[in-house]
Amino acid sequence: MDAIKAVAEGVKDLAVSSDQKPQKEKKEKKEKKKKGAEGGDGRPTELSPPPAFIDHRIQIFDKLKAKYDEIIAQKPREKIDITLEDGKIIIGESWVTSPADIARGISKSLFERTVIARIDKGTDNETLWDLERPLEKSCRLELLPFEHPEGKKVFWHSSAHILGEASERRFGCDLCIGPPIEDGFYYEMALPEKAAVEQADHKPLEDIVSRIVKEKQVFQRLTLSKDDLLEMFKSNPYKQHIIKDKIPDGTFTTVYRNGPLIDLCRGPHVPHTGRIKQFKIMKNSASYFLGDASNDSLQRIYGISFPDKDQMQAHLKYLEEAAKRDHRKIGKEQELFFFHEWSPGSCFFLPHGMIIYNTLMAFLRQEYWKRGYQEVGTPNMYNSELWKISGHWQHYHEDMFTFDVEKEKWALKPMNCPGHCLMFKHRERSYRELPIRMADFGILHRNEASGALTGLTRVRRFQQDDTHIFCTEDQITEEISGLFDFLKEVYGKFGYTFKLKLSTRPDGFLGDIATWDKAESKLTEALDQFTAEGGGAWELNPGDGAFYGPKIDITICDALKREFQCATIQLDFQLPNQFELEYMTNEVAAAKPKDDKPKEEKPKDDQPKEKKEEKKLGGEAALGKVVPKKIEPPQQGYARPVMIHRAIYGSFERFIAIATEHFAGRWPFWISPRQVLIVPVMPAVNDYVKEVQAQLRAQNLHADIDISGNTMQKKIRTGQLQLYNFIFVVGAEEQSSKTVNIRNRDDQATQQRGEIIPLDEALKKLVLLRDERRLENKI
Ligand SMILES: [Zn+2]
Ligand SMILES: [Zn+2]
Repeated sequence: MDAIKAVAEGVKDLAVSSDQKPQKEKKEKKEKKKKGAEGGDGRPTELSPPPAFIDHRIQIFDKLKAKYDEIIAQKPREKIDITLEDGKIIIGESWVTSPADIARGISKSLFERTVIARIDKGTDNETLWDLERPLEKSCRLELLPFEHPEGKKVFWHSSAHILGEASERRFGCDLCIGPPIEDGFYYEMALPEKAAVEQADHKPLEDIVSRIVKEKQVFQRLTLSKDDLLEMFKSNPYKQHIIKDKIPDGTFTTVYRNGPLIDLCRGPHVPHTGRIKQFKIMKNSASYFLGDASNDSLQRIYGISFPDKDQMQAHLKYLEEAAKRDHRKIGKEQELFFFHEWSPGSCFFLPHGMIIYNTLMAFLRQEYWKRGYQEVGTPNMYNSELWKISGHWQHYHEDMFTFDVEKEKWALKPMNCPGHCLMFKHRERSYRELPIRMADFGILHRNEASGALTGLTRVRRFQQDDTHIFCTEDQITEEISGLFDFLKEVYGKFGYTFKLKLSTRPDGFLGDIATWDKAESKLTEALDQFTAEGGGAWELNPGDGAFYGPKIDITICDALKREFQCATIQLDFQLPNQFELEYMTNEVAAAKPKDDKPKEEKPKDDQPKEKKEEKKLGGEAALGKVVPKKIEPPQQGYARPVMIHRAIYGSFERFIAIATEHFAGRWPFWISPRQVLIVPVMPAVNDYVKEVQAQLRAQNLHADIDISGNTMQKKIRTGQLQLYNFIFVVGAEEQSSKTVNIRNRDDQATQQRGEIIPLDEALKKLVLLRDERRLENKI
């Protein structure tokens, strides 16, 4: 899931719970006094007696666990070497020594911090291992804390079991699945008589969870045969389905028990429920079994948990802050944009939103000019012949809007690249022209499912700051270095820090290894150089490149320390090949007259081969058969350019969403659609107000006036709420002296009484503030 989408979802969820929670808590407190331990609706917190299936499961478990323990007791005890991360080797005993023993042996606090063990990382045996589970043979051992991504997953996964137990105890429900997610976990279940979980159930569930945590229920692991599993879960149709579907006949899998809950699960888990010190239910929703609307409707309960109170509080505070910053909320408040049901995923930018859009674009155009880019314009729709050459028709068809034009198949472009290849190929190219940096703000359409659309972060219609650089292999390093400089310049203007990651040759790559190696070493060189010049560290992400070329992913970090990937730098050996692009090299340009090029040369051995594999085939018949084209190698004296796809903002739409939330709607002056509000002290100076506005507008500043019948105080207050960067208050004194009294949005000291500055001077300073694109709102 997109990070921003996840955040947006979280924001949405929080909005629901924070609206209702205070009320609910108040109500429940009152009722608690009256009814003691009962739930909010007067029902007991837990079912009494507990549902019968609980005892049935436990009986089977106890019987089989006793047998299992006997088997384990007979395993040979042998000396094993346990190699720690620092290389230290500890001698243990097979089937006896556990990772918990090792951790406790080092220190109590290490044991308490450790959530899960990982053995033999990077080998075929790599496994996450329960802390208390005895090791079976010599291994390398890591002890992972909550802060480790795997630790977090295990912690949240274990929390889901606790939620499952609490749900069974309260509802007698049939549990389905309870996975960790990006931001916590959920458990999905079917309540008896298709009942729904209520907001009023949250508190009683949390009460049961508190008991479970206090009890420090140990997570016990047991391996069972498929038949035993089917018997154990015979009353639960969903677990039955999962067992029948996922576990091959005659094989075994594991269950884990904590307290009365026994759950089908591969594990691993924290040692006991007491580890989950902070637990909170966030929301509940309806879902379908296996996500299929033709299946039973189920209930999902979402929760979050942490090992300590500080982290829980920080998280809740973060959610609160994120909700305040939600770009959809700010977009509405500031009248930036809206959506309409008749064109989902295609944004209506209102005048103020369009100011932001255009300002972002103007900034790039200015940089393009400095950096030797050439802006081009290309069509929005193309005959499918183009998409067949580029491979989009075969691999990306479902994500495009397609239609018939004069009985032929056409599609709206989802990307500019193929069009740019046509532009490169439009006439003969010489090495002297390279690099060509072809920039295009063209409108793109992608056919996202309507259910997946989210504000500005997931849309169907968008524009990118798209550029394709066509260059020689020798120019790669310099072009990439230039891009790093460009990134730094742009992101710096927003106060974003960024991280770089190089993804290299994956399995099933296209082209030849030598070209890949060369390109990767050039990218590495550029990255190292950037780091050496203080541009920040980079990471290697081996094997994660696209099949057509290595790439550099750039992640920005916003004011809430959230990470977003906007920019990409992607080398492409494939598309120039598909389009048979070529340029005249140095040697032929020097040696041969232009019209004397040899037409039939033998293919060179080191040329990229034809497309070796077709990823994601299907629906071919409906799309019309795509006949693989024979790719001609370049003629002698000609070479194939490398194509670099690159974007810095990514899509304007998504970048605006991120920036809105990053600035919480307090736009830096240069992007702000509400730069100055001019307010008269009394109607007698309205003419001066208009004069000041005219002077500001003459400098292309966004200045509004308020000469309505409201009081001055109310006008100022409204201007402050609308987050104008500056409010000019003018009276008779200012009029006669040609001055303005300035209140600065970000300077509390000026809010009551502003600073008096001559209008000329204020104008000059504002123009400078804008043109230098300074982040700080200060003149
Ligand atoms: Zn589990
Ligand atoms: Zn591209």
